[in-house]
Amino acid sequence: MTTNLDGLQFDNRFFNELPADPEPENFRRQVEAACYSTAKPTATRSPQLVAYSKEVAALIGLDEKSCQSEQFTKLFSGNTLLDGMQTYAQCYGGHQFGNWAGQLGDGRAINLGEVVNSQGEHWTLQLKGAGPTPYSRSADGLAVLRSSVREFLCSEAMFHLGVPTTRALSLTLTGDQVVRDMFYDGRAKQEPGAVVCRVAPSFTRFGNFQLPASRGDTALLKQLVDFTIRSDFPHLGEPNKSCYLAWFKEVCQKTAEMIIHWQRVGFVHGVMNTDNMSILGLTIDYGPYGWLEDYDPDWTPNTTDAGGRRYRFSHQPQIAQWNLVQLANAIYPLIDEAEPLQASLAFYVDCFDRGWYEMMASKLGLTAYQGESDKQLISELLELLKLTETDMTIFFRKLADIDCLDPSLAQASGKQLIAPLLEAYYQPDALTDSIIESTAAWLHRYIDRVRVEKADYPARRKLMNSVNPKYVLRNYMAQLAIDKAEQEDFSVVTELLELLRHPYDDQPEQEQWAAKRPDWARDRAGCSMLSCSS
Ligand code: AMP
Ligand code: MG
Repeated sequence: MTTNLDGLQFDNRFFNELPADPEPENFRRQVEAACYSTAKPTATRSPQLVAYSKEVAALIGLDEKSCQSEQFTKLFSGNTLLDGMQTYAQCYGGHQFGNWAGQLGDGRAINLGEVVNSQGEHWTLQLKGAGPTPYSRSADGLAVLRSSVREFLCSEAMFHLGVPTTRALSLTLTGDQVVRDMFYDGRAKQEPGAVVCRVAPSFTRFGNFQLPASRGDTALLKQLVDFTIRSDFPHLGEPNKSCYLAWFKEVCQKTAEMIIHWQRVGFVHGVMNTDNMSILGLTIDYGPYGWLEDYDPDWTPNTTDAGGRRYRFSHQPQIAQWNLVQLANAIYPLIDEAEPLQASLAFYVDCFDRGWYEMMASKLGLTAYQGESDKQLISELLELLKLTETDMTIFFRKLADIDCLDPSLAQASGKQLIAPLLEAYYQPDALTDSIIESTAAWLHRYIDRVRVEKADYPARRKLMNSVNPKYVLRNYMAQLAIDKAEQEDFSVVTELLELLRHPYDDQPEQEQWAAKRPDWARDRAGCSMLSCSS
């Protein structure tokens, strides 16, 4: 059942049930003893719709015709409000790059309220880039088109890949110019301003709990934990000490599941600060993220992180655990016992390890995971992928095309055996005899292993192609969409949105988007490296 905009029903639990900052004025400040401050979006010069997600419209029960209305554009660029909306910015803190940063808060996000759809689900609507709030510190509360295209497309791409994520309803241009120094090198320029309307059951982050804990405000901490359990984890029952422990354990599990998905599809978040960790285990805050193209476990897309590479691909599982330790420290005053929290942190490690091996086995088309010998097969493969620039996404799709039950493979030479994988290599000329031999040797072991499985070739291929995407939002693809959008041509944004709705399907008209990153994109800003400036 869908409705038009005026028919949307709101039940703003976060706003109504948690303590508010009593100060109504919008100026930068420290906010104590409150979970949020009221803040209104700033009106913009000439709002224009760039794109919307029909799936997210359906999620909140909005009919598609309404998405094409002027009211929709005005609403989701922050130029008007609906009856029932209550606008606010959340107060939270966080560890940034390992250091406690104190109060952060929604510096450029304004929540509009919680829509209740016909299934009774609550979906919080949030505008990103709609102007300053009390938490904007020294910044302007705005966002540019470049980063907004990236957030809009990636949120939806991740959803269709099956990765837990916040969603994006709309992308609008504001008609205002925003000044940004993209590489912090003094070359500031004007860029088009934009707003993304994000949608999630809630936007609560680890940092929401950390801030009251850091201030010794246990009463506020308890209020927020109880509220979160009642609204987002109702199956855990009435909040009490054992419920808090069950809740923390579930957060550990959800976080492990999210990270396993990131590792499966080759997503690198880039800024895994504790204020960017959702309590629901959703991927949140798409900034200088990137997609692994050639398999390099040490890769980070974020130029700010280039020194320590804290947020590199292979480090994401440990960083998530480090962040969970910070959350455990924050909620400790409600539990007063370290041992059960430590047990949940150990549980995170178990969940991750077990889940990661199972996920990797499924990427190889193995259904009955065989423990140690499969572990070895997986780690040998990951060593191989590092030997020469190998596109991870293409490699797994091409591996699925090898019919391991074909008896002639046993006699095939190294070169013949790896021929189906050649497209995955960025520099086929760099394939030395030794790399070819090691790869072929691994393929023989893999083929033997696959033959133990009951599945026939089409079944194995189907399984592999359901976990190994054909299309991901390669960094250069988002950049092409941005280049065009900056010239007011939104066709690539729309094309990619459509393409990425079916990332696992062969889309014969769209083969170009399944190819390796082109050479021109190797070192271009936005394609291989990104800054936090957005
Ligand atoms: P991030 O790491 O990008 O998620 O942001 C860290 C903090 O900076 C959060 O409190 C954001 O709300 C805030 N922030 C980032 N960009 C801006 C901006 N342009 N204006 C105001 N606050 C911002
Ligand atoms: Mg953030």
